[in-house]
Amino acid sequence: MPRMDVGPPIDQNMAIMETRIEILGLARSELAERLSGQSLDPALVPRLWNSIYVRGATRFSQITSIAKQTRDRLEDRFVIGRPSVARELTSSDQTRKWLLQFPDGQSVETVFIPEQDRGALCISSQVGCSLTCSFCHTGTMRMARNLTAAEMVAQAIVARDSLSEWGLHRRFCKFTNLVLMGMGEPLFNYDHVAAALRIIMDGDGFAISRRRIMLSTAGVVPMIERTGRELGVNLAISLHAVRDDLRDELVPLNKRYPLAELLRACRTYPAASNARRITFEYVMLRGVNDSDADARELTRLLAGIHAKVNLIPWNPWPGAGYQTSAPDRIQSFARIVNIGGFSAAVRATRGDDIMAACGQLKSTLMS
Ligand code: SAH
Repeated sequence: MPRMDVGPPIDQNMAIMETRIEILGLARSELAERLSGQSLDPALVPRLWNSIYVRGATRFSQITSIAKQTRDRLEDRFVIGRPSVARELTSSDQTRKWLLQFPDGQSVETVFIPEQDRGALCISSQVGCSLTCSFCHTGTMRMARNLTAAEMVAQAIVARDSLSEWGLHRRFCKFTNLVLMGMGEPLFNYDHVAAALRIIMDGDGFAISRRRIMLSTAGVVPMIERTGRELGVNLAISLHAVRDDLRDELVPLNKRYPLAELLRACRTYPAASNARRITFEYVMLRGVNDSDADARELTRLLAGIHAKVNLIPWNPWPGAGYQTSAPDRIQSFARIVNIGGFSAAVRATRGDDIMAACGQLKSTLMS
């Protein structure tokens, strides 16, 4: 893959010199505390929150409902950060991808997938990924670090900026849903993910409800129950195989949390119901996991779980040793899953001309 043009290098000294308090990523209560700590009135929180998360303010000077003197003081002590957008690409199908660069030089990719009457922003939770799933491009990057809550909230903010949706009634927004399906394993970065989601779900801010958020995990079993109880978001499981020996190979995390344990956690996921099913993602790899017998075993494993299946035609990337299943193989697989009592949607590939499809993300600033 060609190296992306990433613009001028970030001045590391600038990053070190920034001593003001970053507001994005702070919970309301934390923001109130920080304001008090700077001898500012914590009662400013609702106005700041609205200005930043509903109107998209980037400077305190834009918040004219606050007295000039207070604004100056805010400008002095606080900052409403934006990561630098090193590259923005739009696919022929209108999928957009941003390469965001943070002050420490690390970068991630964020993707927006528009649909008829809605659209999902796919955010990253880590720089790189430690899971090394054999079919995933991100898995070939080394894991650099977790993203902070601010850096995840910033991805949503960049999308609103780029889509010019600040201040618009929700009815007119294309960015309506959020999925944690970008780079990284969100449940290895739970605290920051939870803090970011609470901000994004806040009814007086972004107001994207938990029902419009989907967190995808390769199966960090000990964190699944907590995710449902504390965040109540929709859950997706990257299943991809129905036998432990194959799943150990495709998703090495399976060696730590094998299928039986993973499915047990799904059976009791607090936020699942008949109306809110757990999505089981299953990447279709030719001759690897796509036989009729695999499909039958899948329905057997999912029995008793509020489940639906999302079949993902594998998206190629340079140097990968896999091929995607033929369309009629995928149809046959889907039919068996349907007969077994589960809905089986075949996920449309979006944004593959800009390497924005599932599993193609890799920030090329990395070695
Ligand atoms: N670590 C989390 C979040 C990543 S989500 C998880 O594993 O769920 C990204 C989704 O795309 C996962 O379901 C992943 O397995 C899938 N994926 C990865 N590489 C892919 C590829 N090349 N083609 C299609 N899907 C892929």
